[in-house]
Amino acid sequence: MKLVTRAQLGWPASQAPAQAGTKGVKVHYEGSPVSTELLKDHDACVAEVKAIRAAHLANKKENYSDIAYNYLACPHGYLFEGRGTGRRTGANGDQALNRGHYAICALVGSAGLTQPTDAMLSAVRDGIELLRRNGAGDEIKGHRDGYATSCPGEALYAWVRKGAPRPNATAPAPAGGGTKPSAGTPSAGTKTSVSLARLATAARRDPGLKQGASTYPADVRPVEAALRAEGLLAGSYATDGSFGSVTVRAYAQWQRRLGYTGAAADGIPGRASLQKLGAKHGFTVT
Ligand SMILES: [Zn+2]
Ligand SMILES: [Zn+2]
Repeated sequence: MKLVTRAQLGWPASQAPAQAGTKGVKVHYEGSPVSTELLKDHDACVAEVKAIRAAHLANKKENYSDIAYNYLACPHGYLFEGRGTGRRTGANGDQALNRGHYAICALVGSAGLTQPTDAMLSAVRDGIELLRRNGAGDEIKGHRDGYATSCPGEALYAWVRKGAPRPNATAPAPAGGGTKPSAGTPSAGTKTSVSLARLATAARRDPGLKQGASTYPADVRPVEAALRAEGLLAGSYATDGSFGSVTVRAYAQWQRRLGYTGAAADGIPGRASLQKLGAKHGFTVT
């Protein structure tokens, strides 16, 4: 679990009322448009969470003492501590509903960023399990259950109705930010191999081609799948086999995550960064 605490956000202890137990957890979304910039820049996620708290504190009608949610989940799989455990939410609609369920908000909205990433769903799941260890019952519901609202949006609500399963069961466990060494994928025997030379060529050429065109799709696809599992690439870009500008930006983010900066994080795959990605997501580099 990749937890971002209130202290890390620079917030004081929550003054929200205590709530030792609930029937379960309700899932929310932002309800307004959310920028797809969040996909490219985790700093934007941090700013988004801080803006949500500021908006809630400024809401005179509700007279909030704190951000309304117990936790929030970003596209990169981080779980942000809102009110945290043992606190009543202010997000579910009325006092009875707030006593009934804790609340987790995924950073997707009504337009722009509407599709949760696998990493985001994992983070919501992390939050549900954390709340369950601290008094939440088994129920998993959406804000719209028992209250007239579109929240948490179609995509999230469909996932909630399925019981909010942890996605990516085939990928190395994302919980704990854990780096299970070369856990690999279930493609037993025939391990996918990716050519570094072909991939680097595609990363230089594909952004100049027309949208979705690709030079070496068979080499690009496993890398896109790995970037998607890392929460760096979403939606239709994730599997098109084209190393276009969106994929270049996602790869640059992977490089920065490994500590590269400047020209070493230009989004063109190098051997070291690609081998690390492959070791984590089950492909070899030739
Ligand atoms: Zn809601
Ligand atoms: Zn993020």
